[in-house]
Amino acid sequence: MCRHIAWLGEPRSLADLVLEPPHSLLVQSYAPRRQQHGLVNADGWGVGFFAEGRALPARWRASRPLWHDASFASVAPTISTTCAVAAVRSATVGMPIEDTAVAPFTDGRWLLSHNGRIDRTVLPATAVAESLCDAAMVAAHVFTAGPESLGDIVCDLGGRDPQARLNLLLSNGSRVLATTWGDTLSYLVTAAGVVVASEPYDDDPGWVDVPDRHLVDVTADGLSVTPLEPT
Ligand code: GLN
Repeated sequence: MCRHIAWLGEPRSLADLVLEPPHSLLVQSYAPRRQQHGLVNADGWGVGFFAEGRALPARWRASRPLWHDASFASVAPTISTTCAVAAVRSATVGMPIEDTAVAPFTDGRWLLSHNGRIDRTVLPATAVAESLCDAAMVAAHVFTAGPESLGDIVCDLGGRDPQARLNLLLSNGSRVLATTWGDTLSYLVTAAGVVVASEPYDDDPGWVDVPDRHLVDVTADGLSVTPLEPT
């Protein structure tokens, strides 16, 4: 299982979001506290973020551990953003180890991270993915089907593969969508914005755990958590 995190709020540096908290994504890459599948997340890492005046999200991904990326650590304090999605990867057995298999994936509008696994044969063959990794194929499917219907997509895939784990995390710069389907997820609302993450990055008592099989929807108007109910 991978670990992922999203931020929506006032400008915040990538270092402040990803590297500096006591149990940041960086720490979760080698010592996650709530990870149920896999021990470390050393098969790659990625961050995608939205920059003012630019519609396309920017991405930095690599198929090496986050702790090895000294170049990222040196520039991360200088990049600030109102919205980012980041992930560290523990590759599912049989999946390729390559930059293009690492989240976040994008269609040029949305960023998507997948924490979980799925039988790739249940995915429609129509969507074009940048990697044969199941997460990249799920991303292509969600982008094609429409992220606005994320809840229905996850229920449908969960029905096709009952063993699937489908914790997805998406953002388009003004909205964050996340699902719990087989793994952990928490959120923290502060005066500056909202963090949605696989696990809390500090011991702030404000963190709220999301129950399994739920959809989290965050916009400037607020945050909602609704059950995912297969129809
Ligand atoms: N199945 C995905 C991959 O191989 C995600 C793995 C994970 O959540 N650990 O990258």
